[in-house]
Amino acid sequence: MARKPFIGGNWKMNLTREESNALARAVASQTPAGVDTAIFPAFPYLAGVGDTLRSANPNQVKLGAQDFYFQPNGAFTGEVSIAMLKDLGVQVVLVGHSERRHVLGESDELINRKVRAALDAGLEVILCVGEKLEQREAGQTHDVNRGQVLLGLAGVKLEQLSRVTIAYEPVWAIGTGKNATPADAQEAHDRIRRCVEFSLLAVDGHNRTEAAAIAAGMRIQYGGSVKPANAKELFSQSDIDGGLIGGASLKSEDFLAIVKAAVK
Ligand code: PEP
Repeated sequence: MARKPFIGGNWKMNLTREESNALARAVASQTPAGVDTAIFPAFPYLAGVGDTLRSANPNQVKLGAQDFYFQPNGAFTGEVSIAMLKDLGVQVVLVGHSERRHVLGESDELINRKVRAALDAGLEVILCVGEKLEQREAGQTHDVNRGQVLLGLAGVKLEQLSRVTIAYEPVWAIGTGKNATPADAQEAHDRIRRCVEFSLLAVDGHNRTEAAAIAAGMRIQYGGSVKPANAKELFSQSDIDGGLIGGASLKSEDFLAIVKAAVK
């Protein structure tokens, strides 16, 4: 099944307001057709970057948010709701990024609540999964990915799955300059796709053909030290549908080279 490649640029806690707007303008004006692209600026600059994207090249690059809280409003000091994000034009959100799991301590249960709340509100979701180095060395890569995918997507309605992208990001590869070999990444992606398919078979009333079609249509990005030099080979693997890019998304030339490498 032909899946349109999808590249996300996760800017994390980087860039000034001026730099964010300049980067957004460069990305929006040079992003090619044939690939879906989203950028995820820091919260304070979402509104400005949204305006920049709309005026530079409407609809070419989606506005994404790095985080949010699942409750609609209330006494949650420091948090940001989905409605607030939608008000700014946010279309896609990251959930379960390894820095939120392992630095900020988010649980699979919280991640699942966020996934369901974002999908119920009509947003697209990138659900990030991936093993830590010690888990990889203990041979647990596929079990960790399976657990994070199944717990992350628990209770998601079938008709919402077309708005879900999974990002496979081995934690040891994020921001380290190390990346999975294309063959290792391909194997992990293939296993994740099959895990989605088999989990759907367990849902009443779904036969093998339906489950296979939904799983075959789901985009799975690779993330972890993707650079212009390694992007093409990673993206040429049959189950790798683009990437989630951290460090290399902060320079327009590098990010655009990666986006172009994803065009089939
Ligand atoms: C990320 O943060 O999702 C990521 C993949 O970062 P980097 O590209 O810097 O490894």
